[in-house]
Amino acid sequence: MIDFQRILTSINEAASNEKDKGKIADYIPELAKVDVDNFGIHLIDIKQNNFSAGKSDEQFSIQSISKVLSLSMALGKIGEKVWKRVDVEPSGDPFNHLSLLELENGIPRNPLINPGAIVIADILISQLEHPKEEFLAFVQKIANDDTIAYDEDVAKSEKRTGFRNFAAANLLKSYGNLKNDVDVVLDFYFHQCSLAMNCIQLTNTFFMFMNNGKCRRNNTFLTISQVKRINAIMLTCGFYDEAGEFAFEVGLPGKSGVGGGIVAFLPNKFCVATWSPGLNPKGNSKLGMLALEKLTTETELSIF
Ligand code: GLU
Repeated sequence: MIDFQRILTSINEAASNEKDKGKIADYIPELAKVDVDNFGIHLIDIKQNNFSAGKSDEQFSIQSISKVLSLSMALGKIGEKVWKRVDVEPSGDPFNHLSLLELENGIPRNPLINPGAIVIADILISQLEHPKEEFLAFVQKIANDDTIAYDEDVAKSEKRTGFRNFAAANLLKSYGNLKNDVDVVLDFYFHQCSLAMNCIQLTNTFFMFMNNGKCRRNNTFLTISQVKRINAIMLTCGFYDEAGEFAFEVGLPGKSGVGGGIVAFLPNKFCVATWSPGLNPKGNSKLGMLALEKLTTETELSIF
């Protein structure tokens, strides 16, 4: 039996001793208020045993991690038609994610970069009667946790400074790959990014990607084939232009966000989330990456 608790405790100690904790994302002013010294990690295994260290119950802004959830909901709504509107190739996109050059005929490279996620938001708005409420309810249902909520201050803060996302949305609109009003789509997008969760809630939410589409209560949210597709996209596109490095160092599918969260998992074994708000130059949590590298090295568990 692997002693996950011992490993998480030592990862937490190493994180608190680390001098250079990376740099907080300050292009969304509300995120700049977070203390760089925070660190939390939580792991749930397939049998639903839980292990924690550090501030695993403190909430943070999940940001881009939400893109996996909106994609999941869109796939459930319109199925394979999603791939007519977004591609599935890694973008090698840098952290500043302007991404406009990645657009080919208005089809973003993948659903986990900003223009791709904006197209997914557009799909959901066309499909849902009350998009923000229904998306939140979907996430709460997957997590089996109705306390999960949007952080309105973060959403407003990003709306005030989200000039690049407005540019991307307008470009998509000019190509005809945005059916709804730019402001409506971005309002949804900024809200989905503002979802606040802690590491425990994040592993509860992503449990289904580790567990063949079934959440902790065994309800099915995704088919096996949908899980295969989404997990493949996380592996190849989940870490900006550091997806190769993450696969090389950590060896798990997952997704990061500029709030400093990372969630990753080994199918049928465990799901783990880390939070440390300081980012490396590529926009991934600096200590989160180190923590997960240590986890998969010490446990010798990775998809490879
Ligand atoms: N809401 C953020 C943005 O669009 C998400 C960035 C991220 O986490 O990658 O800039």
